[in-house]
Amino acid sequence: MQVKYAQLDGCDATLVGFGDKAIATIRRSDVRGRERFSIAHELGHWEMHRGRSFQCRVDEPDRNFPSAEKGREREADVYAAHLLMPANLFNPAITGFTTLGFEQINEVRQQFDTSLLATALRLVNVNARPIVFACYTKEKLVWSLRARDVPRRWQLCKRLDEDSFAIDVVQSGKLHPVPGKQPAEVWFSNDEADDHEITECCVAGRNGEVWVLLTLNSDMMEETDNSFSYRDSR
Ligand SMILES: [Zn+2]
Repeated sequence: MQVKYAQLDGCDATLVGFGDKAIATIRRSDVRGRERFSIAHELGHWEMHRGRSFQCRVDEPDRNFPSAEKGREREADVYAAHLLMPANLFNPAITGFTTLGFEQINEVRQQFDTSLLATALRLVNVNARPIVFACYTKEKLVWSLRARDVPRRWQLCKRLDEDSFAIDVVQSGKLHPVPGKQPAEVWFSNDEADDHEITECCVAGRNGEVWVLLTLNSDMMEETDNSFSYRDSR
C-alpha cells in the first residue's frame, strides 16, 4: 500500500485499491500521530476489506455512516489502535501511574506517537482502569466509551452539569487536565450516584467539543442484581 499526502476536504484519508496494489491518500495534519493513525486505519481496510474503496474520517467515534459502513470503519480503527499501540507494549506503559489524567495520557501518546484521542480510546479499550471517556458539546453528550468492567447501570447525564469542570471548557476555554474530585451525581443520572465520588478531568476536543475522562471509585464497580437490565448508550 503506497502512502501519499494531500489536502483532503471532508475526510481524513482515502483508499483506492486495484489488484494487489493500493494507494492511501492521507490528509496532512500538524499532529503526526493523526497521520500515522490514518495510515494504520487504511492498512486495516486493505487487510480486511480488500476490493473496496474508502473515504474515511478516522478516529472519530461519532461518525454518521450507514451501519454496514460504520462496522467497517470501526474495524479499521480497532486494527489501527492495535497496530500502533499493541497491548504487550501499551499495558506496561500505563500501569505505573497513580493518578490518571490528560498529562499521563499525553506522556503515553508521546511514547507511541499517536494522537491524544486515539491514545485515550485505547486506554478505555484495554479495560485496565475503571474509566469512562466522553465527548460533549455545550448542548449535549455526543458519544461515550466505557471500560468493559464499568457496570452498565452508570448512565451518563445527557447534558453537562453546571458543577462539572467540563462546562468551563465549553463556556470559557478553561481546561482541567488534572483529575479533581466530583460527586458522582454531577456525571451520572442514576439515583445511586448521590452516594459516590469520582474524579473528572477534561480538555478541549475538536470543533468546540470537550473530552472528559472520569475515573470511578472501586465501590462503583460492583455489579448489582439489576445491572444487566441497562444498555449503554453506544
Ligand atoms: Zn475507513
